[in-house]
Amino acid sequence: MAQQSMQSDSAPRVAESYSRLVDAIAEAAEAAGREAAEITLVAVSKTRPAEYILPVLSAGHIDFGENRVQEAQQKWPDLKARFPAARLHLIGPLQSNKARDAVALADAIHSLDREKLIRAVSEEMARSGRAPECFIQVNTGEEAQKSGVPPGQADALIEVCREKYALPLVGLMCLPPLDEEPAPHFALLRKIAERHGLTKLSMGMTADYRTAIALGATHIRVGSAIFGARQG
Ligand SMILES: *Cc1c(COP(=O)(O)O)cnc(C)c1O
Repeated sequence: MAQQSMQSDSAPRVAESYSRLVDAIAEAAEAAGREAAEITLVAVSKTRPAEYILPVLSAGHIDFGENRVQEAQQKWPDLKARFPAARLHLIGPLQSNKARDAVALADAIHSLDREKLIRAVSEEMARSGRAPECFIQVNTGEEAQKSGVPPGQADALIEVCREKYALPLVGLMCLPPLDEEPAPHFALLRKIAERHGLTKLSMGMTADYRTAIALGATHIRVGSAIFGARQG
């Protein structure tokens, strides 16, 4: 597998990989006739220790992604104390009973996908006064084990989110099936977002961020291209 033959970057090489990626994003944006400034790179630092994250923070990068609340709680309070401008995006499946911790920690939550979770998050926002930006995750490939609302139920969930809970909903997120062409999934996500006037699209990872940028991504979530292949 390609992933296994990739070398894991050592911490000193992370800054170099990051700066190459920033250049590649600028090229992809230009090729798509877009401004690079419209595209937020969420540097996905899940499973990486602080020594890998610090070079990227030191380079002035702001937006980082984690997929587990517990891991984020262990790593980010210290990092945010040292780099107060840093913004944490939660991008992984979220349990309702983690809503309190998620709202306390996150500046954006990309993985809202059901009313129970939306209710828990909105109650926690009201209680705490914090208001992370919210994205609804759409399971565009309708994969059984994957999080996300099925596309056929997305319209209803978006309306519930806005009308019943008045959540600060900014956009949609997807994670296409690994073995499929991503473009139709990105296009579907964009179509659903457009019909609700949602302007943010969280789509594209290491393997497909160029395609996502061409199709209108405003947030790309990239880990391996910065930090090397994940171990295990
Ligand atoms: C891990 C992860 C990414 C980043 O994947 P790479 O292939 O390492 O760029 C993006 N989005 C989600 C939801 C992830 O869990």
